[in-house]
Amino acid sequence: MTVFSRIIAGEIPCYKVAEDDRYFAFLDINPLNWGHTLVVPKHETDYIFDLDDEDFAGMTIFAKKVAAGIKKATGCRKVAMAVLGLEVPHAHIHLVPINQEGDMNFARKIQNPDPGRMAEIAAAISDNLE
Ligand code: AMP
Repeated sequence: MTVFSRIIAGEIPCYKVAEDDRYFAFLDINPLNWGHTLVVPKHETDYIFDLDDEDFAGMTIFAKKVAAGIKKATGCRKVAMAVLGLEVPHAHIHLVPINQEGDMNFARKIQNPDPGRMAEIAAAISDNLE
């Protein structure tokens, strides 16, 4: 069971942003920028391009809704999207609010982010979902 499956199952805490029957979104614990969110399928698959077409498309559409909430909640210029998957073997899309190119730097994460601020941002994104 991956760490993300344990988060979805409620065994590990997270800053939850959104959920439907197939997908789950929560804040990255070491965000590149405030509001950095991960979108994952509930069905555990390592490599995103191994998802079947329907699941891949569904995850992208779910990420689009979450990105709109991030943009409204943070007032960022744009929400960037990336897939790496080198660390956690459970497919996930990174959604990162950016104002400049340097905000999308995976070598520069916010370490030990303030829990109060993380909870506030997760709630703000959640409140701004359509
Ligand atoms: P990657 O697999 O390379 O896309 O990176 C995995 C991402 O998951 C990293 O940005 C981590 O900060 C994030 N991450 C790992 N464990 C957790 C967790 N328990 N809660 C939230 N984010 C996590």
